[in-house]
Amino acid sequence: MTKVQCKSQHDGPGAGHGIRMTRQRKVILETLREMATHPSAEEVYEVVRRQLPRISLGTVYRNLEVLSELGKIQKLELGGTIKRFDWNTKKHYHIRCINCDRVDDAPMGFMDNVETALDDTTGYQITGHRLEFLGLCPHCLEKAIERRSLTHSQDTGLPGADDPSEDPPVPKASSF
Ligand SMILES: [Zn+2]
Ligand SMILES: [Zn+2]
Repeated sequence: MTKVQCKSQHDGPGAGHGIRMTRQRKVILETLREMATHPSAEEVYEVVRRQLPRISLGTVYRNLEVLSELGKIQKLELGGTIKRFDWNTKKHYHIRCINCDRVDDAPMGFMDNVETALDDTTGYQITGHRLEFLGLCPHCLEKAIERRSLTHSQDTGLPGADDPSEDPPVPKASSF
């Protein structure tokens, strides 16, 4: 495992000075931590408003933006159309389902060394990198397999049911 560097965290005695942690923001932060997924602002809003019925989606969204600017949470830069937030501020990779857009953490270490390697060979000062894994989540994979075995059993399977010789003539075609 690589060592985790915590340069971005300044949780010293002076931390939080001048930052007003409103009740709303605290609830939003706690909600995100409890969800432990990678929810969109809308998904956070749906849970937060059970506690704060008068809160608006816009307020939730603004607070999530502020929290990510403060380094309390992470705004994820992933493919797909949904903007997501992560309670975990450590650098880590994600897997995204290409079917349902579910996002999970990829259980592997962060590769700092690829950045240093590029630093040396390109003349760039590398400031970061993104890596996103794509695939089918267990749920969608199961559905896909079910569907495949279903069509398969229709092709080869039950006698008579799908016999092409018994197809009735298509009446719709003549009406055009
Ligand atoms: Zn899926
Ligand atoms: Zn994550």
